[in-house]
Amino acid sequence: MRQTVKETDAHPIRVLVVDDEQCILDTYRELLCPESKAASEAARASISDLRAKLFPTSAPVPAVADFKRTRFAVTAAQDAESAVACVREAVAAGQPYAVVFLDMRMPPGRDGAWAAAEIRALDENVSICLCSAYSDVDTEELSARIAPEDKFFFLAKPFHPQEVRQMALALGHKWRAEQRIAQLAYYDSLTGLPNRAQFRERFRVTLDNARRHQKPVALLYIDLDNFKRINDTLGHTAGDELLQIVGERLRAAIRKSDDFIHVNANKQRGNDCARLGGDEFMALLPEVMSPAEAGLIADRIMKALSQPLMLGEHELTVTPSIGIAMHPQDGDDAETLLRHADLAMYAAKRSAPGTFAFYDAKMNAGAALQLQMEAKLRGALGNDEFLLHYQPQFDLHTGRIASMEALLRWNSPELGQVQPLEFIPLAEATGLILPIGEWVLRTACRQAQEWIDKGLPINRIAVNVSPVQFAQKDFVEQVGGILAETGLEPSRLEIEITESLVMKNEAWAYQMTRRLKTLGVQLAIDDFGTGYSSFGRLKEYPVDRLKIDRCFVKSPTEHSAEDGAIIAAMISMAKTLGLGVVAEGIEQFEQLLFLQDQNCAVGQGFLLSNPLAAGDAEVFLRRMGETEQETDAERLQHLGH
Ligand code: C2E
Ligand code: MG
Ligand code: MG
Repeated sequence: MRQTVKETDAHPIRVLVVDDEQCILDTYRELLCPESKAASEAARASISDLRAKLFPTSAPVPAVADFKRTRFAVTAAQDAESAVACVREAVAAGQPYAVVFLDMRMPPGRDGAWAAAEIRALDENVSICLCSAYSDVDTEELSARIAPEDKFFFLAKPFHPQEVRQMALALGHKWRAEQRIAQLAYYDSLTGLPNRAQFRERFRVTLDNARRHQKPVALLYIDLDNFKRINDTLGHTAGDELLQIVGERLRAAIRKSDDFIHVNANKQRGNDCARLGGDEFMALLPEVMSPAEAGLIADRIMKALSQPLMLGEHELTVTPSIGIAMHPQDGDDAETLLRHADLAMYAAKRSAPGTFAFYDAKMNAGAALQLQMEAKLRGALGNDEFLLHYQPQFDLHTGRIASMEALLRWNSPELGQVQPLEFIPLAEATGLILPIGEWVLRTACRQAQEWIDKGLPINRIAVNVSPVQFAQKDFVEQVGGILAETGLEPSRLEIEITESLVMKNEAWAYQMTRRLKTLGVQLAIDDFGTGYSSFGRLKEYPVDRLKIDRCFVKSPTEHSAEDGAIIAAMISMAKTLGLGVVAEGIEQFEQLLFLQDQNCAVGQGFLLSNPLAAGDAEVFLRRMGETEQETDAERLQHLGH
């Protein structure tokens, strides 16, 4: 299990020296920190006394000036117990030692071999040098016990001063290089928190321990609410800054919680956190005793992360949603626990963003399915899994094609063909509808222009637009850009917006529809009649057409006289307002006749044509082109057959 600290050349290399003789400690200090106060006159005097004892008399003590380059920070301990305590504190403070020089014999206390084993258990990265004047040390046995062998050394007393210095240099630099490599491989470069790979490993070890000692572990899945919006509106630099702040706050909250719960005295690692990617963070709590404690910590994290923060000149508050899964009750392996914590997080986000929720087995298969779908949906655009079908709309008086409506289809290799009504709400909830919607618009415009270039009779292409797209400030620019890019004449594009969207924010809808009209595109209100808008209001919007929802176009047998009257009224009102009308969902011949009787201009439905794949739509358009010479009556006869 890796534990690294951010290491730069600016920091001195931390060295712990352990010896029961003060004068030897001073000597170490003089060798490693010639610039330090330890090299004071008094110390020098004791050094010269001891020099004879430690070093062969012929060895010159190097001059201070030789050692200017690498800096060491030396801590001294006079017995084995305090040495172990120093290492424990250093690890806990995230400032571990690179090298420990450890005297073998420190009577009457414990010896260096004991301290070496304890230190190794606390810190697997530190290099340990055991210094002994005696030849009775069983190096083989000790090396085997205090692995790894490339981090455990023997130094025979008396040693040459250069030996100590060189050893500290070589081992210190090696430690630094290892830290750097580990930092790159196991840490997220943005927040400095452990990354996914490191987290997996830690989680595995924590679970092993928990199983062995039959202890609970809590896993917290933390996801920021509306992070995407911040990224989209303030830019990625601000988004990155926000993630860094969240990372720092999470780390601090986790560290505080270490004190807050009863951490056992021999604990090597307390609570832990990581960034999995994007705005997803994890916290691993191996020291909690109960779900209630995990809840308390989740609450602390929630409060810490929800403090207002400044991004440039913007003050924001970002809340997280947190899901909690507990070992062993919510799962025994890492995969399951992660999935369940994630599921709980979604449950929290859906019901009340900015709260936490515990995994509950009742978070049913439906939610799991949604989750699975969402994961797949994220990759669908990049994997080319979307396609458009095109459903013709017909002029009910001439039998000609009036328009084609582009309808989105998702062919998922795992889930099969997924209907838009199943995945569009999910795409909207996750913001994925933005890139998907842009793709739809571009693909539909490109396809229409291709058909026009082939001389096929396509007047217009209708594209459905989600309220989420419509709410984007730059939506109009996006449409303008796609029209310019594909060369499609603006009047050939019809944008379908839903009636409920208009009703939700009338001022915005009014402004946006105006701006869209200045591009020259056409606007239709989809599913008209279901959103309770009044015709009076409608008059104020610059729309071109109403699409009467198919629930009004029922079969005449189901038709009450009222429904018929409603359709008739809609059609005549639309006419008065100078709006076109399209009737959706024509499935039966009787419906077609009724609509023709009511002078409904345009119709769409399975009776006339199903939505068609692009290739079939092209064949269909070509066939329609060939009916140009026929009379209206002849063309109308083909409809519905
Ligand atoms: P919509 O815009 O009202 O599209 C018409 C829906 O009615 C289509 O369903 C179409 O296949 C179906 N339909 C056509 N004729 C008949 C008929 O005679 N009887 C019946 N029962 N249904 C008929 P689809 O393709 O499943 O799309 C459902 C909805 O999903 C669409 O309703 C639209 O709101 C949304 N949608 C489809 N594509 C997109 C898209 O690219 N972007 C967005 N934002 N929404 C889309
Ligand atoms: Mg539509
Ligand atoms: Mg519709």
